[in-house]
Amino acid sequence: AEGSDFVVVANRLPVDLDTAPDGSRRWKRSPGGLVTALEPILRNNNGAWVGWPGVPDVEVEPFEDDGLELVPVPLSEREVADYYEGFSNATLWPLYHDVIVRPVYDRTWWEAYVEVNRRFAEATSTAAAQNATVWIQDYQLQLVPKMLRMLRPDLTIGFFLHIPFPPVELFMQMPWRTEIVEGLLGADLIGFHLPGGAQNFLYLSRRLAGQPTSRGNIGVRSKLGVVQVGFRTVRVGAFPISIDSGEMDEKSKRKSIRDRAREIRAELGDPKVIMLGVDRLDYTKGIDVRLGAFHELLLSEKVDPEDVVMIQVATPSRERVESYRHMRGEIESKVGRINGEFGRVGHPVVHYLHRPIPRDELIAYYVAADVMLVTPIRDGMNLVAKEYVACRSDLGGALVLSEFTGAAAELRQAYQCNPHDLDNVADAMMAAIEQDPEDGRRHMRAMRRQVLAHDVDRWARSFLAALDRTGEDTAPTQ
Ligand code: UDP
Repeated sequence: AEGSDFVVVANRLPVDLDTAPDGSRRWKRSPGGLVTALEPILRNNNGAWVGWPGVPDVEVEPFEDDGLELVPVPLSEREVADYYEGFSNATLWPLYHDVIVRPVYDRTWWEAYVEVNRRFAEATSTAAAQNATVWIQDYQLQLVPKMLRMLRPDLTIGFFLHIPFPPVELFMQMPWRTEIVEGLLGADLIGFHLPGGAQNFLYLSRRLAGQPTSRGNIGVRSKLGVVQVGFRTVRVGAFPISIDSGEMDEKSKRKSIRDRAREIRAELGDPKVIMLGVDRLDYTKGIDVRLGAFHELLLSEKVDPEDVVMIQVATPSRERVESYRHMRGEIESKVGRINGEFGRVGHPVVHYLHRPIPRDELIAYYVAADVMLVTPIRDGMNLVAKEYVACRSDLGGALVLSEFTGAAAELRQAYQCNPHDLDNVADAMMAAIEQDPEDGRRHMRAMRRQVLAHDVDRWARSFLAALDRTGEDTAPTQ
């Protein structure tokens, strides 16, 4: 048969172009939960993955990598700046994360977004077999569902949003709001992490439908979980993503990891309590919030800098976007200030790492940490929180978790806090530091049950099963 029966479409291909010291380049698989979960499904269905190779101006034909058909979508330097760094990361990202930073609305960026989405739709249309299933991922590609449906009405199209979907009042800022909602409604099934996001989208479809604009009325009728677009039925639902819990659990039990965790504790001078933060350096993550709360606990002498240390892993991210550069400065000065006031020579209180940490080393940190700090202002899910839980087969440790993460809906036994309320964050930290070990074990056991039973594989299967069912009550297209 021509083409693939199952096509995944994402901004990035699951490979990186690696340049060797001698200048030669080759593809290297980039690991990630999504790839791991989808790989078996792709293999069994003659699958293909459409995405950008991650470096500008590389034009390559579709190729096979370790049994996976990869379809590269090239982007120019300009398009990376306008479609990716601009519209995706300086317009959509802040708008969808509750406008923590003011979104920039730029016509040129929007035009690049439309153009690049069209290119993704065309590449997908070429790669997909007759009646294939296509699964489009995330906020960079919200126009692809509609564009693809116009090219290929035979396809079954799913879309999943990996970040939050904002309240209507915020979304209405978007100058191209109608186009985006119409773009998404090209799918048969639209998935969000939480029922709240799905609800926001349903309200929005109704609101824009009741409001004819110069761009035309999309004619939507919506009820719970379903939007009727003309003769088509679009399903809307919540599918909370997860991690490869089994792999994390297994790795965390290995002797090499446990030895390394012990070594990390020793390197820190065997403090009573190690607190840990692991995030991309992003303004949504509330790194400033947890540093602020820790600073207050030190100032008020509720914690002794000899007993409690903090490790903050802040992976470099989006360094060409201005707001990220600014935030890096703020956080690093805060770290410097705390260490200046409370550190000793050879004994800082905050250990700050601004670089990516290898996977196994990260797992050793999780195993070594008594208190995990996850305090985003807004986060679609937050996989780090689930990874920490999956790594605590010893039932040790405590999780401080912001209410404004998707993970908070599942990890009810965490020390939950409101990241806007510094006292509340400091109280949650203290409660975690001072937790009764027996209570801690009980909470961890309950959270582990949730995370181990709901892994990323189950997430993918449940989305695809729901997508499969969308065809059942719709008349077949001719
Ligand atoms: N991560 C990593 N190396 C690092 C820091 C983070 O591999 O140095 C991983 C982490 O284990 C997790 C992911 O990056 O799987 C972050 O996902 P999350 O949902 O927490 O946040 P996002 O970065 O997607 O906003």
